[in-house]
Amino acid sequence: MYRNNPFHNFEHASHVSMSVHKLLSRIVAPDVDTSDEENLAKNLHDHTYGITSDPLTHFACLYSALIHDVDHSGVPNSQLIKENVHIASVYKCKSVAEQNSVDLAWALLMDDQYTDLRRAIYTTESDFHRFRGLVVNSVMATDIMDKELSVARKFRWSKAFAEGCTKENTIAATNRKATIVIEHLIQASDVSHTMQHWHIFRKWNKRLFQEMYTAYKEGRAENDPSEFWYKGEIGFFDFYIIPLAKKLKDCGVFGVSSDEYLNYALQNRKEWEARGEECVAEMKQELESINFTCDLSQVVDPVLPQRDEGPSGTVIFDEEEKKEEELLDKPPKSTARLATPDINFERLFM
Ligand SMILES: [Zn+2]
Repeated sequence: MYRNNPFHNFEHASHVSMSVHKLLSRIVAPDVDTSDEENLAKNLHDHTYGITSDPLTHFACLYSALIHDVDHSGVPNSQLIKENVHIASVYKCKSVAEQNSVDLAWALLMDDQYTDLRRAIYTTESDFHRFRGLVVNSVMATDIMDKELSVARKFRWSKAFAEGCTKENTIAATNRKATIVIEHLIQASDVSHTMQHWHIFRKWNKRLFQEMYTAYKEGRAENDPSEFWYKGEIGFFDFYIIPLAKKLKDCGVFGVSSDEYLNYALQNRKEWEARGEECVAEMKQELESINFTCDLSQVVDPVLPQRDEGPSGTVIFDEEEKKEEELLDKPPKSTARLATPDINFERLFM
C-alpha cells in the first residue's frame, strides 16, 4: 500500500512503528511506590494514564504508525490541493493524505480475510469504536500543518499538563492525558530521525530532500528546496522538534528516554548549523549529477558508520510540510476525520 517514494515509503512506516514501540515500552511511572505490591498494578495503571495496561491501545498505536503514510504521493497536502486531485475534494481539502491513508488501510482491515485479526483486536462494539477513534486520532496527529488540529492539540496539552493541573485526577483528566501522550508519541516517532544519531538524521534528511527536489523538478513544487533547506531545518528544530522533545520530557511518562531524544535533537541542531550548508550543496550536486528522467535509484544513502557510538536510540518523525500554507476554509467533515474528542480510556484494569 506504500509507494516507492524516497522518504514516504514502507521503510519510513517501519521506522516510525519501531519508534512507537520503543516509546511505548519506555513509558514509566516514576512516582509509583513499588513497595506497595498489593496495589502496584493499579498504581502503574493510574500513573501512566492506562496506556501501558491496555493491549488495545498498544496495538492501535502500532497499527497507526504502520499505516499513517499509506499511499503517500511524495508531495505535501498543499500540493495535492493545488493539483485538485480527487482525494482533495473527497476530504474537503483537510488532512487529505492522512485521511486517505486511514480510509485505505481501514478498508483492508475490514476485509473478510482479516476477520480473525479483527476478533483479536476487539470483541465489543465499544472497543471497536475505541480502536477506530484511537487510529483516526493518532494518524491525524501526524498532520502537523493543519492549524485547526494543531490549536486543538495545544489547548489540550495546556489543559492537561499546565502547572496546577497535573494533580487533577478525574477519569476525564486521565483520558485527556492519555490522548495527548499518544498524540505526542506518534508525532515524535514520525520525526524520530531528527532525534536519533546524526547519521540516522542525515540518511532520512537526504531522502526527504530527494523526494522534495524530485517534486520540484517535476513541476510539483514552486520553490527549489535547496534554497530553503538549510534555514528550514534550523527553523524546524527550533520551532517544532526541540519544543516537541521538551514536551515528551514534561509529560513525565517516558523516563530517561525523553532526555535521550532531547539531547540528540539539540546535538543534531548544532551539527546542522555547522555543517548543514555543506550537506545541502552535496545533496544537490549528487541529484544534479544524475538524469532525473532516468534513474533516481542511483542515489545512495549516506554511509552509516558501525554502531559503536551513542545509545541504541531509535526515535522520532517527519517534516515534509515545512512551508506555511493556508488551508481552504472548508468544514472538516469527512469519512475519517473525527472532531478529535479525548479518547475514552475506560478503566480496563481488573
Ligand atoms: Zn510519516
